[in-house]
Amino acid sequence: MNFFRTLSLAAAFAASSFSFAQDAKPADRYSVIRCGTLLDIAGTPAKKNATLVVKNGVVDRVVEGLGPIDLAKEQASGANVQEIDLRDKFVLPGLIDCHVHLTFEFNKESRLRSITESECDSAIRGVLAAKKTVEAGFTTVRDLGGESHAVFALRHGVVRGDIVGPRIVAAGKAISVSGGHADPSNGWRDDVYPQPGPEAGVADGPDECRKAVRLQIKNGADVIKITATGGVLSLSSAGLAKHFTDDEIQALVDTTHSMGRKIAAHAHGTDGINAVLRAGIDSVEHGTYMDEESIRLFKAGKTWLVPTLLASATVVKNAKIPGFYHEFVARKALEAGPVRMQRFKIAVKEGVRVAFGTDSGVSPHGENWMEFPLMVEGGMTPSECLVAATINAASLLGLEKEIGTLEPGKSADLIAVDGDPTADVNTLKDVKFVMRAGGVVKK
Ligand SMILES: [Zn+2]
Repeated sequence: MNFFRTLSLAAAFAASSFSFAQDAKPADRYSVIRCGTLLDIAGTPAKKNATLVVKNGVVDRVVEGLGPIDLAKEQASGANVQEIDLRDKFVLPGLIDCHVHLTFEFNKESRLRSITESECDSAIRGVLAAKKTVEAGFTTVRDLGGESHAVFALRHGVVRGDIVGPRIVAAGKAISVSGGHADPSNGWRDDVYPQPGPEAGVADGPDECRKAVRLQIKNGADVIKITATGGVLSLSSAGLAKHFTDDEIQALVDTTHSMGRKIAAHAHGTDGINAVLRAGIDSVEHGTYMDEESIRLFKAGKTWLVPTLLASATVVKNAKIPGFYHEFVARKALEAGPVRMQRFKIAVKEGVRVAFGTDSGVSPHGENWMEFPLMVEGGMTPSECLVAATINAASLLGLEKEIGTLEPGKSADLIAVDGDPTADVNTLKDVKFVMRAGGVVKK
């Protein structure tokens, strides 16, 4: 067991957001939350008039009705009890986004920033993105790529309570081949940006791939992200097809699993999607050019699809603005964007397992909810979308025991909206109340 992971994850998932300086055992903290409607488990019927009791950041019990909750004994022994009135709201588990880039937000300036700004700047930018994200109702995110130390520092800042943000499961730097989607030196002269090696997540050959994974984990990665194929936003004309060879992919997957982590693959081209599925990848991100074989492999294995429909919608929109992207990028965006929805519809019809993910950072942070109407357009019901953004996402993150539902023993991560999101996902645009690990983030 890696010490760093033990430290960061245990602290992130066990601790409530309350901190105490005293040595004495802190008083128990209760929240009694009155819910007009409570969807404690997505995919099951919502309960009218229910009360949720939270103790020290964890769901203690769900009680029918809005009657009094007797905590007199607990109060007599010093417990703090707060009442939260959400009687006119629809309450549901905090949402989970399996694909964001908190330290990054793409715009016309971002290319130059990669050589003019430091990793510290990325971390500071991430602080604002983290706040916007949790206030939008996303209480957990998986950050799938950014400068490692910036992302890890952000994660630690949330755990310590220094900054407001979601629980962060972090990959740090994505692993790429030289010249591939996550080679940050693409498009720069060698003396401006020297070719990075496995220490910086750029690897060629199975040995370098193993080393890149091991170094990422040593530095604090909770999960590994690889760019199995070319990508739309990289400054490269190297297409969207498979970049790592089969033996490199197997080395990446096996090394990651042997160190107790999950591995996510960015994949657009059919050959790359099918290669990572055969190698036992945990999630395919984007999955643009899925074919029949991809769908067969998805259904035969345990891999999740994280569709990121919002990313394609965003790049197609931006590619039409002259000069917004480099010409290579605009061409790739206009080519691949429309295909994603078309193939996604087939995947949904065929029953491929979907976990929610937006690729926010490609789109502005805090607009993560916009993925929901796109998923509905792709053929999912609102209820299936909510399952994808709670139970399924928790399972992909390996956190199904901690988050994803509001059952007793789970972290008190919950949100409230007006209206009924199981009937209309647009109600998720305006999240009125957010609690994360028992701490009120927004009200
Ligand atoms: Zn991404």
